[in-house]
Amino acid sequence: MAENQKRDFKVSIIGAGFVGASTAYALMLRNIATEIVLIDRNKSVSEAESLDIHCSLKEICNCSVVAGDYCDIKDSDVIVVTCGRGRKLNETRLDMVNDNVKIAKTVADEIKKYYTKGIVLIVSNPVDVITYKMIEWLNLPKGTVFGTGCSLDSMRFTNVISEYIGTQNFEKVDAMVIGEHGDSQVALWSTVNVDGMPIDSFCASKKITLDESIKQKLANDTRTMSTRIIEGKIRTNYGIATSISNIIDAIKNDKKQVLSTSIDLHGEYGLSDLALSVPCVIGKNGVEKIIIEELDLAEGQALEKSSKIIKNTL
Ligand code: NAD
Repeated sequence: MAENQKRDFKVSIIGAGFVGASTAYALMLRNIATEIVLIDRNKSVSEAESLDIHCSLKEICNCSVVAGDYCDIKDSDVIVVTCGRGRKLNETRLDMVNDNVKIAKTVADEIKKYYTKGIVLIVSNPVDVITYKMIEWLNLPKGTVFGTGCSLDSMRFTNVISEYIGTQNFEKVDAMVIGEHGDSQVALWSTVNVDGMPIDSFCASKKITLDESIKQKLANDTRTMSTRIIEGKIRTNYGIATSISNIIDAIKNDKKQVLSTSIDLHGEYGLSDLALSVPCVIGKNGVEKIIIEELDLAEGQALEKSSKIIKNTL
């Protein structure tokens, strides 16, 4: 079947705030879902957002966007959890943990009442912590519940590198960030490639300087991008909505796409008893496989440090 060809595909989004509504809009524009349900404890918000998105529907696609209640998650192919409060300036994602874990527990209890099938995708921050707790509470088959993790950071890293090297000839950059979706994230320089060529060789062949200080700056620009966005507009929503729609597209079309998402680890990368972002194969069953990359010493140490931060928070 051709990609995105019309076939029933239901997505329920819990939390119709900036992230939830932007996700519904992205899914609608990309023609990924045929039915989108927005659920929010503030029903007037979910009703208003669904009406607003619905206005443009007939022009673009044949998808329904409605406000619903928890009972409407029944038969969803994907349930996206975006509720919780957003990050304030000068707060880290980990500072939101108490408030958002409490909200997540009430959401898990509701999901359990009405769940019939589908993948549960966690977005609420701190996403690695909430994902781990949701996996525990929902107790579904491995890979069914996972978090967006560093998928957004990986998109940002790819863009930052592309802009630095100036991909005038549309060379394709593959770059990934793993670890915490937060300040201790690890930019995986050892695996970055451009059109299949290791980035160091690519830059040497094009006489582009890429020394350690430049690598550090590009990784830092990636890490601090959300803070720069929050300074200007209090929240981030479009990038994550794109990232969520990419993940749902990979699920719907069984793409077996490798994305950095947050999943419970059981010895992979020497880590266990937490959820953290690592390269995952995403298909119709959610996370179908964890890819083990060979990390260099510094990357391995940075991942270990990131895992300690998440474990302390847990
Ligand atoms: P927001 O405040 O605009 O929206 C949150 C919504 O959740 C509100 O409409 C609120 O009424 C609703 N809500 C709260 N408790 C609820 C409950 N128990 N049941 C149903 N709805 C409930 O916030 P936002 O900007 O949309 O951000 C949402 C979350 O997404 C935050 O935790 C934020 O940090 C996170 N986020 C994650 C990423 C990522 O990469 N993982 C990126 C951006 C934002």
